[in-house]
Amino acid sequence: MSTPAQRLRYCIQKHGARQLHYDLRLELGGTLKSWAIPKGPALDPTVRRLAVQVPDHDLGYADFEGRIAPGQYGAGDVIVWDRGTWQPEGDPFTAYAQGQLRFTLHGLKLTGQWRLYRTGLPGSSEQWLLVKARDAAARPLSEFDVLHAHPNSVISGRALQPALKEIDR
Ligand code: MN
Repeated sequence: MSTPAQRLRYCIQKHGARQLHYDLRLELGGTLKSWAIPKGPALDPTVRRLAVQVPDHDLGYADFEGRIAPGQYGAGDVIVWDRGTWQPEGDPFTAYAQGQLRFTLHGLKLTGQWRLYRTGLPGSSEQWLLVKARDAAARPLSEFDVLHAHPNSVISGRALQPALKEIDR
């Protein structure tokens, strides 16, 4: 059973690395489980977005904004695109182990119910899919794209800085 006390940290960082992507992070077991979403989240229940599992991050990283230096892993700018809490449906450890997470987001941009599930798609990392559930927070992508409507940081309000390769030119 989910109670407010079980609410866990959630954030999405917009990351202007070599390829722009959105890093979804969900607190579980004292760490941030993490997925890189190349196309970012969509509020449209008919749209499934690939979410490639990436290494866990420390809880404190959820607040990180700034530039990762050239030559370092993930070099490029990072902003906190959304943050808040997530409420898993049922036991999140079991659901995570089974690759079938259902949860409610209480973010500034993303709310309502979501589903994140592991696929059998081949790849060097686990391939999951993120899908919005049908509820009051769902919107057709043809009418509303949350990525374009709300592109900036929820902490500083700033936009993502251009990729390093463009600046260095
Ligand atoms: Mn990243």
